[in-house]
Amino acid sequence: MSTVTVVIVNRPFNLLLRFGIALTACRGPGSGARGRSPDAQAPTAVSPQYDRPAFPVIDVHTHFDPEATPRIVATLDARNVRYAVNLSGGWPGHGLEEALAQARVTHGRIVPFCMLDWRGVGRPDFVENALATLDRCARLGVRGWKIAKNLGLGVTDTAGARVAVDDPRLDPLFARAGSLGMVVLIHSGDPRAFFEPPGPSNERNDELRAHPGWSFADPVYPRWSELLGEFERRVARHPGTRFIGAHFGNAAEDPDRVSRLLAQCPNYYIDTAARIPEMGRHPAAQMRRFFERWEDRIVFGTDLGMGVEPEATMLGSTGETPPGPEDITRFWRATFRYFESNDRQFEHPTPIQGRWRIDGLGLSPRVLRKVYGENAARLLNLTEFSSP
Ligand SMILES: [Zn+2]
Repeated sequence: MSTVTVVIVNRPFNLLLRFGIALTACRGPGSGARGRSPDAQAPTAVSPQYDRPAFPVIDVHTHFDPEATPRIVATLDARNVRYAVNLSGGWPGHGLEEALAQARVTHGRIVPFCMLDWRGVGRPDFVENALATLDRCARLGVRGWKIAKNLGLGVTDTAGARVAVDDPRLDPLFARAGSLGMVVLIHSGDPRAFFEPPGPSNERNDELRAHPGWSFADPVYPRWSELLGEFERRVARHPGTRFIGAHFGNAAEDPDRVSRLLAQCPNYYIDTAARIPEMGRHPAAQMRRFFERWEDRIVFGTDLGMGVEPEATMLGSTGETPPGPEDITRFWRATFRYFESNDRQFEHPTPIQGRWRIDGLGLSPRVLRKVYGENAARLLNLTEFSSP
């Protein structure tokens, strides 16, 4: 901790300015020709043409410090992100007021989702209090409720037992979110590799080495597929509530399983946050068919996290050291390149998430507009959003 502080204190202030200038570099005039034919030859190097997306973006999955607003807005501008959902909105008296203030000063451009305090599940008044919190958040203009992976992996009830994602005691909360018109964004489980033994043979070994606490290999935790089953039953139980399954429906390793839930539940959407490495390792033709089939139900997300200092940046995941400007450039370029190009075997946005390469989707302009922004605008009622 002290090392980080020293770095921050010693860092010249103008680094932030230089950083901002680098981020605002515009796409060159010759780079507007997107939607190349599927047969286009893959270029060998990353082109700066993917510094910005082909169409405006709504990022439904971010984590923003309310005090970092100027830095955040500069980044959103640089990447043509028109709106961003801040999933770290907290709850009344615990961060929500600050998140709402951030929404106000950005004229609604940063959209906070609230969370709930899970302490006390099983107490007689728990559900009543939680319902009152959701009501209050809705009255304050909050459009959605974020549920983190600790539900299913860490939350316990007053008797000390694990609270499953589909615990029936929580049913009234999900029904209420639906009647309030709130969108529920759920992260359940984690990458499948986190449930397998850590070590050199684990495909996410780099990430697990940096974060030993992200391993759920211990049999004290439910298995990956079991958690996913709990999550799927939760979504299916509330047809009147709109859900976003975070991180490609929490199952980027198994698109067929994600498809089945999308087919079963018209109230269900998925975001793409922090899963381009997983999505991009499936055959491109298969994934393009997936995106075309579910073109109205996929919303763009990054899992971008930003604090006050440049060091406090998270690009979908984090390593042992904070990302530098070159990591940030690669992150955005590889992100837009994945959705827009037919390039093959290029480096994905977050190398810490695995040492493999990905194939681009080459989505059509119509599908890109929907996935980048139009679907989220509809879902979140952002009526001023338009995709030219
Ligand atoms: Zn997240």
